[in-house]
Amino acid sequence: ANVRELLLSRIRDVSDYPKPGVMFKDITPLLADPAAFTALTDALAGLCVEHGATKVVGLEARGFILAAPVAVRAGLGFIPVRKAGKLPGATLSQAYELEYGTAEVEIHAEDLDRGDRVMVIDDVLATGGTAEASLGLIRRAGAEVAGLAILMELGFLGGRARLEPALDGAPLEAL
Ligand code: IMP
Repeated sequence: ANVRELLLSRIRDVSDYPKPGVMFKDITPLLADPAAFTALTDALAGLCVEHGATKVVGLEARGFILAAPVAVRAGLGFIPVRKAGKLPGATLSQAYELEYGTAEVEIHAEDLDRGDRVMVIDDVLATGGTAEASLGLIRRAGAEVAGLAILMELGFLGGRARLEPALDGAPLEAL
């Protein structure tokens, strides 16, 4: 319970960013506070253990910052899901809808093994589009989804409901 309060106290609301009418949740104060960053890393690593994960996937870009120390803490490998065109090797790609236009995420499928159980980590769940596409990549790579663990869920955007089919029973844990 205290961890939740600590984390909440280190998230900054920035109004009208990146455009007018949007309230942006800024996690940089949390990252700058070693007690909060450590508490977050430990909590996420605990979820990896609890759900039997064998690999940790981080979503570009803030998901990388969280998932990398979690992977080390949990003793698991880290795999990035990147925006299109950034990974040098053979990739699987998944396009998804944005409010205006589309985006695409990619993964190096060869870094996942059949039978791997993947915990997907990101900072903020908004509409769920990024996470939905990423879960699809993991399944297409032949691995299982152990869960989706995020720092913060913007509940009013309905991401959790959208993700239900893609999660297929895997847990969505929002700290
Ligand atoms: P979604 O695909 O709409 O769920 O958007 C989620 C992605 O956008 C995540 O990778 C987040 O890092 C980012 N994002 C959306 N809103 C915020 C915010 O308020 N703060 C930080 N990141 C955000």
